[in-house]
Amino acid sequence: MTLLIRNIGEFFTGELARPTAPVKSILIADGRIAAIDPPDDQAKADKVLDVAGGAVMPGLVDGHVHPTFGEWTPAQDAIGWIGNYLHGGTTSMISAGELHIPGIDYDNLTPELVTSLAVVTAATTGRVRWSGVKLYAGTVLAVPGMTEAHFDRLAAAGVKWVKFIFYPFKDDTTEALNYVRWSRARGMRVKVHTGGVSRSGSSVVCGYNILSWLQPDVAAHVSGGPIPMSDEDIDATVDHTAFALEVCSSQNYRSTARVVARLIAKNQLHRLTMGTDTPGGTGVIPRGMLRNVLYFASMCNLTPGQAIAVATGNTARAHGVDVGILDVGRPADVVVCGPITGSAGTTLADAIAHGDLPGITHVLIDGELAVTDRSRQTPPPAKRAFFCCCSTGQFEARGV
Ligand SMILES: [Zn+2]
Repeated sequence: MTLLIRNIGEFFTGELARPTAPVKSILIADGRIAAIDPPDDQAKADKVLDVAGGAVMPGLVDGHVHPTFGEWTPAQDAIGWIGNYLHGGTTSMISAGELHIPGIDYDNLTPELVTSLAVVTAATTGRVRWSGVKLYAGTVLAVPGMTEAHFDRLAAAGVKWVKFIFYPFKDDTTEALNYVRWSRARGMRVKVHTGGVSRSGSSVVCGYNILSWLQPDVAAHVSGGPIPMSDEDIDATVDHTAFALEVCSSQNYRSTARVVARLIAKNQLHRLTMGTDTPGGTGVIPRGMLRNVLYFASMCNLTPGQAIAVATGNTARAHGVDVGILDVGRPADVVVCGPITGSAGTTLADAIAHGDLPGITHVLIDGELAVTDRSRQTPPPAKRAFFCCCSTGQFEARGV
């Protein structure tokens, strides 16, 4: 199956270095982008999606979610959250730990239990594409007493992320640093909870002191999840480390503005990543990633293209997943959208710069239509994309 997306008015690449490009059409084949602006004789496709001058961007990558079992989350007694996030433009999600399992005793986690939880989740919730979304789940919650054999078992089960949240950091750093070393030797990446105590009540406070020696791959929700580290620690972390810094919907908005301003001033925006840190106490937020983009672009001095690149290419790269960038050979995870009737923006970039929510019509994951005609979570955009048959010029029904 091949698909041509044409009549593109605004194209967002997901690459921070070049966040927009004057692209008019993309050809998708076998789930990947086969060509950008193909010449007319190579632009034949089984289906043609005319986006009517609207915008095309990469599917959003939520770098911080807390799944439990498939589409069910006990954190807010909700079913179908992943499908709802898809309709908010999210096509990939990375688990920051499956810590909402009913009955879990945070104060008595053992190496066997946390390893088993990650293995079971990778083999169940992480095995299936719920609502089509790429959910990378099965993230182990590091606890004291783990041995290299536990990391062998995790790697064999396909676990890719290790999360420090309930780990009681001590003056002796040997064990935690062993975990980081063992993880990286097996292709796993390390994320650490930062800031004050989490909703669990059992996480430890983590600021620059711990980050400076632990050197994780990603420091989670550095502007609050929900309580941020101190301003001094934020500044030191930006100035004296080089790893990725994540901002989440669980944020303290004032601290986020501080983090982003300092990253811009230090020319370090490539380190900024984004997530929702949901489901959780912050809720279930289908439009959470979009709202983060809007906050960055309307209140934190990022251009709309930069804000989208942080929510896509930056976040994917920091987590080692091959999504978030629209280029030849990349997975065709695509959001088609535009400004909503009544918005201050006449273009998508203009609307985002004003902080106005975009309207989504179509979402593709690996070239397959996951949302068709319009999102059930956003108003429709003023200009609606539609399928047409290029050979006959006849339009297919646009549906409801
Ligand atoms: Zn979290």
